[in-house]
Order: sequence, then structure tokens, then C-alpha cells
Amino acid sequence: MGMEMDQLYSDIILEHNQNQENKKELSDFTLSEHGHNPSCGDDITLQVKLEDGIVKDAAYTGHGCAISQASADMMIDVIKGKTVAEAMRLTGLFLDMIKRDVTDEDELEELEDAIALKNISNMPARVKCAVLAWHTLKEALEKENK
Ligand SMILES: [Zn+2]
Repeated sequence: MGMEMDQLYSDIILEHNQNQENKKELSDFTLSEHGHNPSCGDDITLQVKLEDGIVKDAAYTGHGCAISQASADMMIDVIKGKTVAEAMRLTGLFLDMIKRDVTDEDELEELEDAIALKNISNMPARVKCAVLAWHTLKEALEKENK
């Protein structure tokens, strides 16, 4: 991983942190889950609208550091329009990327912009920030599947 790639990844994180297109309240949703990362103070509420087993819409509200907010924003771009099973698989892929169980960039391309958080494992203090939204989604979807 060269400096240019690191810079590109930083730009993507910054962009999501500034735009936060998915940071809003949904008027219509079927799942709502709260996630909290006490080590940093990140706090998000995720809303998901499932219809016929598909993530029709999703959004988040809350506050926290740039990494936690950017990660939530990226995640929603990834899961929108996917089936619940695909969303669960992609969440697993993201968590595997963070744990470095999956490092192949071709395989990680499915994570779209969230691949920019690949190197967060170099900063252990930020890992919980990066995974907050994804753990929150996983909890919400697992409850749905019970
Ligand atoms: Zn944080």
C-alpha cells in the first residue's frame, strides 16, 4: 500500500464525513437499532426499511468522530438495494477486512467506498469507531431473522 493509495483512502473518508448523504431520519422504516462506542463517544441510531427481504432504504443519525460517521455513511451506500442475506454477507466481509482475514482488494471491491477503511487496523484505537455502524446493522438484521 503506497502513499498515493493512503491519500486516496483519506480523501474518500473525508468526503463521506463532509457530505453524509445518508445522515437523516427516515419517515418510514421497519428496523431501528442504537449503537454506542464508549471508548470514543460515538453514538448512532440506524434505521432500515426492509421490504420483501430487501433493504429498500436506510439512514442514520447521531454523533461521533469522523471515522464512525464516514463508516456509517459508506455502509448505507453498500447495503441499499441488497437482500438481507447479501447485506449480512457484506457486513461479514467488512469485519473480516478490519480483522485482516480478507486482504484481497478484488474481493473487497464489493465494499465500494468502505474499502477506504482497510488500513484502520493500523490504528487500534479507531477500530471500534470503524465497525460501530456495521455491528449495529448486524444486530438489527439478526433480530429480524429470529
Ligand atoms: Zn470514534
